[in-house]
Amino acid sequence: MTAEESKKSTPKVEPLRAVKGMNDILPPESARWEWLEDKMRSVLQRYGYQNVRTPIVEPTALFVRGIGEVTDIVEKEMYAFEDRMNGDQLALRPEMTAGVVRAMTEHSFLRDGGKRLYYFGAMFRHERPQKGRYRQFHQMGVEALGFAGPDVDAEVILMGSRLLRELGLVDGEHFSLELNCLGEATERSAHRAALIAHLEQHKDLLDEEGQRRMYSNPLRVLDTKNPALQAMADAAPKLLDFLGEASLAHFNGVRAILDAAGIAYRINPRLVRGLDYYNLTVFEWVTDKLGSQGTVCGGGRYDGLIEQLGGKAAPAVGFGMGMERMLLLLEEVGVAPAAPAPDAYAIVPSSQGLPQVMVALEALRAAGVSVVLHPGQSSMKSQFKKADASGASYALIFGEDEVAQGLVAVKPLRWGAQSEVRTQYTRSISSAADWAAELLNA
Ligand code: ATP
Ligand code: MG
Repeated sequence: MTAEESKKSTPKVEPLRAVKGMNDILPPESARWEWLEDKMRSVLQRYGYQNVRTPIVEPTALFVRGIGEVTDIVEKEMYAFEDRMNGDQLALRPEMTAGVVRAMTEHSFLRDGGKRLYYFGAMFRHERPQKGRYRQFHQMGVEALGFAGPDVDAEVILMGSRLLRELGLVDGEHFSLELNCLGEATERSAHRAALIAHLEQHKDLLDEEGQRRMYSNPLRVLDTKNPALQAMADAAPKLLDFLGEASLAHFNGVRAILDAAGIAYRINPRLVRGLDYYNLTVFEWVTDKLGSQGTVCGGGRYDGLIEQLGGKAAPAVGFGMGMERMLLLLEEVGVAPAAPAPDAYAIVPSSQGLPQVMVALEALRAAGVSVVLHPGQSSMKSQFKKADASGASYALIFGEDEVAQGLVAVKPLRWGAQSEVRTQYTRSISSAADWAAELLNA
């Protein structure tokens, strides 16, 4: 066999690919994620929200009971499976509210009063992947549990609005807020009866799914993008007309705060949200910049969910914000974080004295300086190129001659506002801790 033949007969290993609709997030894209997460955390902390982390896998029953059996998420989108080891019915979480509620109950966490929580995490839905819609996606969400008043609904809306604006997005131009009140169960059932009667009159317009859901979940039949159904949906009885005094007072309470704070919103009587657990206030932030993936954030009140999942009844309100859609929107409108750059880049043309050099870099890092070491040996020219491309403010040149004398050459690469030295100068390697501060705030 010739070398050529042997090469041909060696079986080539097919590289594996990520699961469809599930994305790798690599640098430099991952830096945008960190930037967004940091911005969000800074806002969340100003409102006193605390981080919560729950498992990605939960018992399937949690979502069936929590989200509702006749919902897209549970019917069509949930990754539910049997654990082969013990036959347990499990699911990858399609959203996190049900998991947070389970955790609150399991740990009697609301025993000493309400809690304000936030989370970041991956969610899973078996949908058709497209821009802004994935099978693994990420949400930032908040849940305020144990608070009944409209002030907390308004608080989470104010917080979401601040978040969007602090990211550089402009209300009315890049996003807008839609608001509705779903009332309480008795109001919804009165409305539901009227709605079913209306749908029955227009039964011929509905597809098979619509006809099936007409009785099981008639509100959802109206939550359609089908243009053929718009007129019928517009003429349908409105839930707002069925609300009693208490629900209206709650809704008006939320509105009064938003109005006082100058938060613009549009009341959308058709806004019902894709999960069954909501009551009273529901809201969405929408954008026209992302096509049919235009909802960047959705939430509302879910006063019945905790009890429905076996906990002690307590009111709650929250929202979930899609991280991928936020990043797409920010990109679309040209909001970009500053590229992250180290303070310094270490150029080391020879491995001579490398241990000393690395000890000096450790001293710099201990003093808070971010410094990247050029990996391996290459020409000074190519190392300088890398130093420049890194965006570092300084190059630290550990040349052979300098290192032999215990010195390093410090070369400013960028003319920063506070930097007074443009030209290269030398410093002692062994006393790096003493001059580290010079590299900060360049
Ligand atoms: P849509 O109507 O677009 O399917 P949804 O009502 O199902 O959204 P929610 O369950 O309210 O979405 O989730 C909150 C947020 O999470 C959404 O507003 C959106 O930004 C994001 N989101 C939901 N599903 C996906 C997905 N498959 N891929 C990416 N982001 C998603
Ligand atoms: Mg959906």
